[in-house]
Amino acid sequence: MKPQAVTEFYRRLRAQTPQPASELQYVNVYTLLVAVVLSAQATDIGVNKATGPLFARVDTPEKMLALGEAGLKNYIKTIGLFNAKAKNVIALSKILRDEHKSIVPRDREALQKLPGVGRKTANVVLNIAFGEPTIAVDTHIFRVGNRTGLAPGKTPLHVELKLEKKTPAEFKQHAHHWLILHGRYVCKARTPECWRCLVADLCAFKPKSPAPQSDEARRNKKAKIKKKAAAKKKSVKKKAARQNRAMPFIQYHKDGSLWAKGQTIGDILTGYWEWFRKDGTKLRSGTFKDGAQTGEWTTYDKKGRVYKITAMKPGLKSTGKAASLKKRS
Ligand code: SF4
Repeated sequence: MKPQAVTEFYRRLRAQTPQPASELQYVNVYTLLVAVVLSAQATDIGVNKATGPLFARVDTPEKMLALGEAGLKNYIKTIGLFNAKAKNVIALSKILRDEHKSIVPRDREALQKLPGVGRKTANVVLNIAFGEPTIAVDTHIFRVGNRTGLAPGKTPLHVELKLEKKTPAEFKQHAHHWLILHGRYVCKARTPECWRCLVADLCAFKPKSPAPQSDEARRNKKAKIKKKAAAKKKSVKKKAARQNRAMPFIQYHKDGSLWAKGQTIGDILTGYWEWFRKDGTKLRSGTFKDGAQTGEWTTYDKKGRVYKITAMKPGLKSTGKAASLKKRS
């Protein structure tokens, strides 16, 4: 994405949410850190449900250590991977108490040394708690960065470094939130809602998702398909009826005078037949019987032009040869 488009991209997201905030609930920097650690591979809503009662009672490393791992598990057992997360929260609380005077450090390296804290968590804490212009790349931002062409990269770190490079300074502070909100509510993983996307014209994603059909449009489409199927069924029935109908069978001599007449049902000659001489007098007549006629007949139209050649098999069914010949003069 070109720099001008990047600026416009952020400008529109900012206009929509001028003051974005984290959807994780917390009461101070320590609880923010705990909430972010708990949110790995979990939804913010699920984490908030568990941390609401927890943070009402526990808001410092000391209180967390007093609660203990088993007590903490009771609060967070609805969150995925809660056993490992409880262990990490107790361990990081101990380090904060013993090495940082129970204060969350404003330092990426120190943060990343805490159990359960990776680069993404450190970036979130630095951004939200300390106002640093970091961009934590989670699953939403990774997807949006790649899909839109804003910051394509194979790993979250690649995407983060590209975003840092491409994001204009004026947007860096809130870029993390704008991109998360956009990925979570519009540029969704399975079906991005391109039809209502603010930045659709700037986005490189080509197979843009169309708007879902209204109930009425869906009903109309169903009715149309049903109608088409009924018409097809009718035409098949008509064709079958036509093929089963007795049709006159007439042939002419080359000079256009009547040579033979009888009747057919579909491709099969059936019923009576009469042969005539060129002067119009009857030569022979009779009825067709299975196996009674074989050989090849040349048929002429009234003007004496070759109309078709019909090869008759025993059983009086014409072969494909007749069908392959076109009417010609
Ligand atoms: S147009 Fe579609 S793919 Fe592109 S950012 Fe918007 S929602 Fe995502």
